[in-house]
Amino acid sequence: MDVPETLTQAIAFFSDPQRAFEAAVEFRWPGGNVTCPRCEQAKFSFIKTRRVWFCYVCKKQFSAKVGTVMEDSPLGLDKWMSAIWMLANCKNGISSYELGKNLGIRQQSAWFMLHRIREAMKDDRTHKFGFGGPVEGDEVYIGPNPQKMHKSRKAKVQARDGLKGGYVGKTAVQGILDRDYRQVRARVLPNLKRETLQNMILDNVTPFAKVYTDESILYEGLEKKFVHKVVNHTHEYVNGKVHTQGIDNFWSLLKRTLRGTYVAVEPFHLDHYIDEQVFRFNNRATKDNKLTDADRFALLMLMVAGKRLTYAQLTGKDSNEPHHPEAGTGQEVPF
Ligand SMILES: [Zn+2]
Repeated sequence: MDVPETLTQAIAFFSDPQRAFEAAVEFRWPGGNVTCPRCEQAKFSFIKTRRVWFCYVCKKQFSAKVGTVMEDSPLGLDKWMSAIWMLANCKNGISSYELGKNLGIRQQSAWFMLHRIREAMKDDRTHKFGFGGPVEGDEVYIGPNPQKMHKSRKAKVQARDGLKGGYVGKTAVQGILDRDYRQVRARVLPNLKRETLQNMILDNVTPFAKVYTDESILYEGLEKKFVHKVVNHTHEYVNGKVHTQGIDNFWSLLKRTLRGTYVAVEPFHLDHYIDEQVFRFNNRATKDNKLTDADRFALLMLMVAGKRLTYAQLTGKDSNEPHHPEAGTGQEVPF
């Protein structure tokens, strides 16, 4: 069977457990150079019937899933790899209900699986933006319409977050876009202090780069470190090259995914959904970079190895993990 190019082909290809296993091994250990994920040695025997290795050094077994986001999951690699293909390539994401139906698994298992894959999608690169082209910076507020909130809940949420008017109950997300490289970085803002917003730009953008933002006072002072130009959204949407349409485009994709596919996202998990959208945005096909679905899948498979997310971290039940008070039910509340 040929390497898959479409979703239908991918599902057919990975439906064979042996083929799924061989593909996973090839992504994890190119050329078949298997090493133990615990001690990194290659002294083992392979138990063919169970597709696991026994390490003679650790005196323990390991599978192709150990040390990845798939570790401890009872679901087979056939299901995992189909799910990874779908999340890497479905433009508006895929809901746990849809995935569960497609793979014949419970919605809750699909939900956990999707969150683990999103963890692998997180882009850890730290290279600076702004060499050559300008960087656009902006923030967006995501969440329910405060006019539809119950009065008492609205008052409670307002007191908790300190946001007013149309922002009550919303979560602020900050993003920057390198216009030349067409790459985005985005995250949930822990607060709306000027220092917090500006630190993200200071940490991620090279000094003296061109930085374009709106005229919010939150960005005041950036002109001391950057060539800072502002767009006045009320009077001029585009001021020559000074605009933030690139990051605006990303925000509309993010909002479409959240509203259309996920409908309900707990604020605690929003960072994961942002990572997912950033992955697809930064790895989309462009004129100069003709990435295919198979390329995006391969890239994500390489990112899967080495990242692990436990159930406790995911649900905020790990006492060391700071978490949102509304996190961890696994139930989806209207967003
Ligand atoms: Zn070992």
